[in-house]
Amino acid sequence: MDFEKLQECIRRRFANSSRSREALFRVLSEAGESCLNVEEIRERMLATYPREVSANTIYRHLEFLQECGLVRGVQAGASRVFCLRDGWECYAVCSRCGTAVKMAENCSGCLDRMPDAELIVIYRRCDGCL
Ligand SMILES: [Zn+2]
Ligand SMILES: [Zn+2]
Repeated sequence: MDFEKLQECIRRRFANSSRSREALFRVLSEAGESCLNVEEIRERMLATYPREVSANTIYRHLEFLQECGLVRGVQAGASRVFCLRDGWECYAVCSRCGTAVKMAENCSGCLDRMPDAELIVIYRRCDGCL
């Protein structure tokens, strides 16, 4: 978990720290390779954070975290999903159900083929939709 990077960004931007932002960050880091939409983030926060957090607040926190370079938003069908950024950024989005996952580093040699790429999004059917 990269809480240090979060603290550093908060200091750099003279922002107030926020318990709900930290809870959101924790939800994304515990989601591992799965990218989550705002509704999924909200549901998971209900389990870990004592107060209900509005979708607006979640959007605001996500904006902040993206500006810090800690979170990546990926378009997955009609909705936008969010993942923590860590290292190589390659995402697979299911073209049918919109499920989005972070691929392992250099998942299919794409790093070798496009070493200067900042972000790769692959659209394909997920295992459940094959
Ligand atoms: Zn699917
Ligand atoms: Zn890849």
